[in-house]
Amino acid sequence: MSENNCLFCRILAGEVPSTKVYEDDRTYAFTDINPQAPTHFLIVPKEHIESLNDVTKGDEPLLGHMLRLAPKLANQVGIAESGFRTIINTGEESGQSVSHLHLHVLGGRSMAWPPG
Ligand code: AMP
Ligand code: ZN
Repeated sequence: MSENNCLFCRILAGEVPSTKVYEDDRTYAFTDINPQAPTHFLIVPKEHIESLNDVTKGDEPLLGHMLRLAPKLANQVGIAESGFRTIINTGEESGQSVSHLHLHVLGGRSMAWPPG
């Protein structure tokens, strides 16, 4: 299912260009256009799901798949050993700016805690 005015659905449809990191039947990963670390990419489901607030029990395999992809892809781009951060923003106060579920993977520098 896709939504016409959803930016990430448009990327998935090839209507908006992106730099691919990985793709399979359920997910697509691409570099973030405004990277917050030397390595910063996003893993998105091909199905349009607005946010974590909208996932159902049926989405559990997909979510597990996305989480397992993070270390696999981090390893491929060379940040697994040094460490990486995974983030899913949900809703307005979190700073979610695109209403299509996405898992941020960032690495390549030391990071502070707590996040801003
Ligand atoms: P969030 O703020 O958690 O919703 O994350 C949305 C992310 O999408 C931000 O880090 C943006 O830099 C990124 N982004 C926005 N437009 C694009 C685009 N056309 N290609 C790649 N990343 C994008
Ligand atoms: Zn979408």
